[in-house]
Amino acid sequence: MLLSTVGLLAQFLALGAAAWLLMREPAEPEGRVASLSVQRGHLGWASWIVAISGTLLVTFLIARRDALGASVDPVTDVLKIIALWCLLFVLLPLSLKRSLGAAKVHISLPVVATGLLLISVDAVLVVDPRGAGNFGGLVGVGGLAFLGVGLASFSLGLGLIPAILVHATTPRFLTWWLYGTLAFPIALVHALLRRGRPPGTSDARQRRIRALVVLVPLFLYMSATLRNKFLLYTSPPSDDQYCLSVPDRSSATNPFRPIPDVPRTVPLIQGGGTIDDVSCLNETSIYGIVKPATIGELRETLAFARSKRIRVSIAGARHSMGGQAFVEDGLVIDMTAFDQMTVDTERNVLTVQSGATWKKVQDSLDPRGLSVKAMQSVNPLTVGGTIAVNAHGIDHRVGAIASTIRSLRVMLSDGTLLTVSRHHEPELFRAIVGGYGLLGVIVDADIEVTDNEMYELERRVIDYREWPDLFESAIAGNDRYELLYGHLSTAPHSFLREMLLYTYGPTNGPHEPIPPVREAGYVRVSRLTFNIAKTGPLGRWAKWMVEKYVLPHVRPCYESRNQALTAPEACLVSRNQAMYSSTDALKSSIKNRTEILQEYFVPRDRLVEFIDGLRGALADRKADLLNASIRVVHKDNLVLSYAKDDVFAVVLYLSQGTNSEGNADMGHLTRRLIDLAESLDGTFYLPYQLHYTKQQLKAAYPELDAFLQLKRKYDPSGIISNRLYEKYFD
Ligand SMILES: Cc1cc2nc3c(=O)[nH]c(=O)nc-3n(C[C@H](O)[C@H](O)[C@H](O)COP(=O)(O)OP(=O)(O)OC[C@H]3O[C@@H](n4cnc5c(N)ncnc54)[C@H](O)[C@@H]3O)c2cc1C
Repeated sequence: MLLSTVGLLAQFLALGAAAWLLMREPAEPEGRVASLSVQRGHLGWASWIVAISGTLLVTFLIARRDALGASVDPVTDVLKIIALWCLLFVLLPLSLKRSLGAAKVHISLPVVATGLLLISVDAVLVVDPRGAGNFGGLVGVGGLAFLGVGLASFSLGLGLIPAILVHATTPRFLTWWLYGTLAFPIALVHALLRRGRPPGTSDARQRRIRALVVLVPLFLYMSATLRNKFLLYTSPPSDDQYCLSVPDRSSATNPFRPIPDVPRTVPLIQGGGTIDDVSCLNETSIYGIVKPATIGELRETLAFARSKRIRVSIAGARHSMGGQAFVEDGLVIDMTAFDQMTVDTERNVLTVQSGATWKKVQDSLDPRGLSVKAMQSVNPLTVGGTIAVNAHGIDHRVGAIASTIRSLRVMLSDGTLLTVSRHHEPELFRAIVGGYGLLGVIVDADIEVTDNEMYELERRVIDYREWPDLFESAIAGNDRYELLYGHLSTAPHSFLREMLLYTYGPTNGPHEPIPPVREAGYVRVSRLTFNIAKTGPLGRWAKWMVEKYVLPHVRPCYESRNQALTAPEACLVSRNQAMYSSTDALKSSIKNRTEILQEYFVPRDRLVEFIDGLRGALADRKADLLNASIRVVHKDNLVLSYAKDDVFAVVLYLSQGTNSEGNADMGHLTRRLIDLAESLDGTFYLPYQLHYTKQQLKAAYPELDAFLQLKRKYDPSGIISNRLYEKYFD
C-alpha cells in the first residue's frame, strides 16, 4: 500500500516536473490570444458532439421503451436522463465560454463540474435497475456512462483553475489545462508560484525537445506500471501460489525424502514434506501422501498406517480451509484417483466414487440430460469432500447433499467395508455425513440426480429486509423457482443493505434442445473485478457496480428465438450451466493476501438482525468483504448438524493478509461473528478456518460428545484424524 502510494506520488511529481520544464518560459501575449480562440472553436465542436450523442441515447431509450419491458416507471427515468443531459450540454459549454471570455467568472467551472459529478453519481446510485433485461438495466448502463462523463468533467473543471491562473504568462493554455486535469494539486501550486512572474521569451523548439525527453520515458514508465498491474490483477497464479500442487517425486529438485518399508501396494506419491490447502494458510509437515486407486490399495494403506501407528487423514480437493484434510506428521490419503461413476437412468441414481469432482460428474450427466441435485456453488470439489461436510448449494428446495444420498460405501480404519444409509446402519450414516472423514473413508455413494432443464434467470434488486417475507410468501413452495441465491452489496453506500436476488425457474417458451455445458467466459474480467475489490472501499464499490449494471449484459445466456421476440434480454440457461462454476476467477496472483470463506446459519426470522450485527462487526474490524451470499438451508438430522432448524445461510468471502496480523484480525472477527450468530440461535460452518473456541463449537454442535463416542466405536485404533479433530475434539 505504502509502496504504491509513494509510486503514485512519484509519478505525479515527475509529471509535474515535466510540465514545469515544458512551460518554464513565459509567453508572448499574442500567443495567448491565439490559443484561447482555438480553444473556443474546439469547445464548440466538442459540445455539439456531446449534445448529439446524448440526444441519440435518450431517443434510443424512449424509442425502445415498450420493448424494454413495462415493469418500471420509465417516464421518471427518461425525464431524469434528459435533465442530466441538458445540464451537461448547456451548463458546461456555457460556463466554459464565459470563463474563457471573462476571467472573473471562471470560478463557476469547478462548481458546475462538481454538480455534474454529483448528478452522475446519483444517476448510478439512485436509478436502480429493477431487474435484468428490462429498462432499468439500460438506465444503469446510462448511469455508468454519466459517471464517467461526470468524473471527466470534474477533473477538467478543476484542471482549468491552474490554466486560467497562469494564462497571462504563457500561451500554453491547453497544456496547462491538461497538466491541471492530470495533476491538479501540483499544477495549482505551480500556477500560484508562477503567477507573479512577467512573461519572457523562449525558443519553442528547445522547449518541445526538453519536454519530449522527459515525457516519453515517463509515459513509458507509467504504461509499464499500468500494464504490470493489469497483468497481476488478471493472471491466474502458478500452481505453487495456489498451494495445492503435489510435487513430482521424480523431480531432481524434489525436497521430499523417500520412506523406507512402504510396501509396493501402498502407492506413495510424496514422502515427507508439507501439504497445504486452498487458503495457503495451513502449511503442515506430513509423513507423506498416498493415492490409492483401488479398494485393495486403500485397505493396504490403512493396514500400513495401523501397523506403524501413523495417523491418517482423508483428502479430496483440499478446498476446506482449516486443515480438515490433513494432520501434523500424518499420512494423507488422497482420494482423487477414485473418480469412476455409472448412472442408472431408469431410477435417476448416480453411483460415484468419492474422489470424483463435481465437474467430472456434470460432464458425465450433461450429455444424458441429467443434472446434480445438490452440490456446492463451485465444481472442482470432490463428492467425498462434499458428503463429509454435508455441503449445500443453490437448489433451495433440495438443500444440503444429505437429503439426496441413497447409500454410501464406507471403509472403516480396520479395513471393513460397510454400506450405510438412513435405514441400514443409520447411526453410522448420521455421523459419516457431515463427519469430516473422522469415522471412515467414503469409498462411493449412490446419490439422486434429476433432469437437466432449461431455466429462465430472473434478477431483481431488493432491500435485504424484504427478503425473509418475500421468501416465505412468494418463493418457498412455488414451482416457479427452482434455484436461487442472493448477493448482498459490498459497496460502501449500500453495504449489506441492497440485495441482488437471482432466481431460476422453468421457461414458458417452447421446448428447445438444451445446449451442452461450457466453461464460463470472462474469467479474466471476473478476476480483475475481484482483485480490484481487494484494493479498498472504492474497489468494492466498483465490483458491486459491475455486478449490478454490467453483468446482466455480458453473462452467458442462451436466447430462445421466441422468447427473444417478447423479452429481448431474457436469460435462458440450463440447470447444469447454472451450477457449472469453476474457481478460476477466484485464483489470484496477488502476493501476501489470500481469500477465505466463512458461513453462518441463522433462523429465518433472525436474518435481518444478523445482517445488521454483521455490518457493524465488519466495519469495526475494517474487514475486506469481497462477496456476501444468502442461501436457503433446511433442518437436518445429522450428528454434526449445522441446521438445527430451517435457516438462511450467510456466506462471506473475505480477503486477508497472510501474515500473523492478518490471521489474528480474522480470528477476532470470526469469534465475534460466531457470538453474534449464536446469540440469535444460529450456528456456523466447520470446513473453514479454526478460529473459534471450544465453547463456541460446543454451543453450535450440541451432539459433539455423541459424535466422539461414535468415533471411538468405529475407529477404536484412533488412527483417523485431521487438524480440526486434533484442535477441538481430542
Ligand atoms: C471456493 C469455494 C466454494 C465453496 N462453496 C461452497 C458451497 O457453495 N456450499 C458449501 O456447503 N460449501 C462450500 N465450500 C466448502 C466446501 O464444500 C468444503 O470445503 C468441501 O469439503 C470441499 O471439498 P474437497 O473435495 O475440497 O474436500 P477436502 O477439503 O479435501 O476435505 C474436506 C473434508 O472432507 C473429508 N473427506 C474428503 N474426502 C473424503 C472421503 N472420500 N471420505 C471421507 N472423508 C472425506 C476430509 O477428511 C475433510 O475433513 C466451498 C469452498 C470453497 C473453497
